[in-house]
Amino acid sequence: MAPEVKSWVAAARRIVVLTGAGISTDSGIPDFRGPQGVWTKNPLAEKLSNIHYYLADPEVRKASWQSRLQHPAWNAKPNAGHLALVELERQGKLHALITQNIDELHQLAGNSRELVIEVHGSMRRFMCWGCGMRGPMERVLERVRAGEEDPHCRDCGGILKSDTISFGQQLLPEVIDRAMQAAGEADLFLSVGTSLQVYPIAGAFDIARSAGAKTVIVNAEPTPYDGMADAVLGGSISAVLPAIVTERESAARFLN
Ligand code: NAD
Repeated sequence: MAPEVKSWVAAARRIVVLTGAGISTDSGIPDFRGPQGVWTKNPLAEKLSNIHYYLADPEVRKASWQSRLQHPAWNAKPNAGHLALVELERQGKLHALITQNIDELHQLAGNSRELVIEVHGSMRRFMCWGCGMRGPMERVLERVRAGEEDPHCRDCGGILKSDTISFGQQLLPEVIDRAMQAAGEADLFLSVGTSLQVYPIAGAFDIARSAGAKTVIVNAEPTPYDGMADAVLGGSISAVLPAIVTERESAARFLN
């Protein structure tokens, strides 16, 4: 591990972190494009994440509800990688935590909701495609467990889905703007566990770099941005992140 990264983290005042599915694999939630990824192993799974198939085909919705019911995130616990980002917040250095993840493990680990920018929404909420009503996902999962294969909205009869941005669905401009603005204010930008292939959010890297931030990529596989980054750290995120985030108190304790 590049020792200078540790000193960049120690010196930084406004760290912006962009996380992807890779930070949650050590919590037992597979990514999409990694070697053990959901799409790598079963390309048909991509259909379940596509809004056009979802709205058009009740069979796709039934399969989606079963897969939501069995999603590993319901039993997942934050890992050492998530906890290292909580430590950054505790040190007052975390300016924003932009995540493409829908699992809410950052919030469960202890990061403040105000700092987490969820660009793809959350699987822990549902939304109605007809009237826009939202609520806790558990309410709809109860109905699926009770035998409804494709539950519809009790208010308007509309199609229900998770409150996430499916492929083919519009991102929320105000959320993307907030993420890009935060990236432009960073003095250190950490990209963690993302293949940096999904736009526009991968562009947060360019914005941070153009604004003068140091850029660090933590990912087991190469990304298209590796050549531009100030440092690229391979290996497992749950080992690398705790190693670059040192505790402020350790120096103070030593001095006392
Ligand atoms: P991705 O699947 O495209 O890429 C994940 C990257 O993380 C891969 O390059 C992989 O090599 C790396 N990686 C995986 N585990 C790692 C580990 N332990 N240590 C180091 N590197 C590791 O993920 P993405 O770029 O986030 O895009 C996929 C989209 O799918 C996301 O936008 C997200 O919305 C969604 N998704 C979310 C979750 C989740 O919430 N946990 C899980 C799967 C997919």
